[in-house]
Amino acid sequence: MRQKKLVWHIFPSFLAAILLCIAAVTWYASASIQDFFLAHVEADLIARAGLIRARVERLLAAPSELRSFCVQVGRESKTRITVISSDGSVLADSTERPESMENHLTRPEIVTALAGGHGQSLRFSRTLNESMLYAAIPIRHADAADASTVYAVLRLAVPVTAIDRALAEIQMRIGIGSIVVIAVAGLLVLLLARRISRPFEGMKQNAENFARGDFSRKMLMSLADAVPLEVASLAASMDRMAEMLDDKITAIETHRKQLDTVFSSMIEAVIAIDKDERVIGINAAAGRLLGVEAGAAPGKYLQVVVRNIELQVQIGRVLSTGEPVENEIVFRDREGEKLLQVRIVSLHDGRAQEVGALAVINDVTKLRRLETIRRDFVANVSHELRTPITSIRGYVETLLDGALDNREVAISFLQTVLRQSERLNAIIDDLLALSRIEQGARAGGIELREGPLAMVLEAAVETCRIEAERAGVGIVVDCPEGILAPMNDTLLEQAIVNLVVNAVRYSRSGDVVTVAAALGAGEGGTPQVTISVRDTGCGIAPQHLPRLFERFYRSDQARSRAEGGTGLGLAIVKHIVQAHGGRIDVRSQEGVGSEFIITLEGRKA
Ligand code: ADP
Repeated sequence: MRQKKLVWHIFPSFLAAILLCIAAVTWYASASIQDFFLAHVEADLIARAGLIRARVERLLAAPSELRSFCVQVGRESKTRITVISSDGSVLADSTERPESMENHLTRPEIVTALAGGHGQSLRFSRTLNESMLYAAIPIRHADAADASTVYAVLRLAVPVTAIDRALAEIQMRIGIGSIVVIAVAGLLVLLLARRISRPFEGMKQNAENFARGDFSRKMLMSLADAVPLEVASLAASMDRMAEMLDDKITAIETHRKQLDTVFSSMIEAVIAIDKDERVIGINAAAGRLLGVEAGAAPGKYLQVVVRNIELQVQIGRVLSTGEPVENEIVFRDREGEKLLQVRIVSLHDGRAQEVGALAVINDVTKLRRLETIRRDFVANVSHELRTPITSIRGYVETLLDGALDNREVAISFLQTVLRQSERLNAIIDDLLALSRIEQGARAGGIELREGPLAMVLEAAVETCRIEAERAGVGIVVDCPEGILAPMNDTLLEQAIVNLVVNAVRYSRSGDVVTVAAALGAGEGGTPQVTISVRDTGCGIAPQHLPRLFERFYRSDQARSRAEGGTGLGLAIVKHIVQAHGGRIDVRSQEGVGSEFIITLEGRKA
């Protein structure tokens, strides 16, 4: 719809009203003036007829004289004079020859006059070819006995074109006046429209400010003093509305900010999706978990943002059924595989209409891995403990069954029992050591004191020396003097011992194990020290490397057991190194040898 300006709403009605008024006045005035003129002229004609009636009456008997009288009087008074007999034939006429004129009996003025009255008529004369006003009076014999009998009619007529002309002139003046009036009225309307619409212009400006969220300028204040009451009360209403809006928007904004804070500081990953599966919002945790830039995701389709069919299927189900869903899904990305626990519920708007879905996602990869480790650990401990116990029980039963009688066999059996119980002892020692380190680390960390590294390495190697010599393996220590590291020397020594024992165990006779330390720089240039225990033994197959530091994990079951290993050595090493805030890495090649590298904080003395 095309909107018109206010002036175009007012002006046409104004114009119509003015034109109607002028037309009515003109019509009424014209009619009155015409009536007045005609009445005046008619009265004048009747009066003039009355003046000459006596002469005409006298001349009725002498037609030729009557005719010349009519012609003469008619010329002098600029009036057409006609005398008609009672049978309608024209006796005399001031302008025409009576013989050529038709019978006048039916003319209205004649009919009235013959009946004894004053007849008059306004009509177009075909004889003279113009509009004429006729007035007729009866002529009676004044002295005759039948004085009421009309035997002739005297008719006077004047053309009314003069009246018409006068009227046309009056109408033209009224027309010119009308144009002036309309122009003035137009100007007034323009001014009026301007006056009415000016406050609205200001209010429109203000309303646009309101729409932009700027409620600082009050409408009523910014209006001029002389505005109409209706405009002022409209402005006041709009100010009230703006105040309410401002309050509502502020409340919503506060609420939204609080929600935003909650949303972004949540540890759980949260994604909100609309009905078309477009992302409404995604928090920072979700961005991190799913490898998505959280700020750029809103408005995009979920399948574009997160490429995971399972998640899409679950969300699709919630969107179609409205029922909440809880499930675990596998998510693969560049970093590998993650196990995600997803809880999806449908999202409702203020009118309880379903508008999308909300997914809360937890990364349970670590949790599930820990659960598996714990389960495996319990199974492993039971298994590790059961093996020596079963063995001990078997030998003791055999002894009781009679083998005790054979002293030699009995001694060999008892030696095995002793070995197995030592093994049990070793396992329990290692388990206790592990739990002590773990507990120490959990209860605020173990106590670290800065000390020279060389001493710890020497002491560790010394502990292993006898076993190494027995295996025919040499040990070389390469540690520059003056390296200081914050450490718990007892624990660190145990870690090095475990590594050296392993290196000796898995070396061949004649091999050499190297224990070396060096200063270096870590990320960001922090000084650090690396301790490496390197052997040239059997090495470890690559598939075992990731799990090597788990409890009871062995790359070579048979050999480890035969060598008296508990499978806990490296787990202990890892925990000790972690308690020092360090890192342990392994490099190994089957048949070539292995190298275990501990990285700790450290510096030169
Ligand atoms: P274990 O007591 O059996 O030695 P560890 O936890 O110390 O247990 O070691 C775990 C496994 O790692 C061992 O069973 C062994 O198979 C492997 N391993 C450890 N150190 C070495 C090494 N230096 N050379 C080859 N294999 C090794």
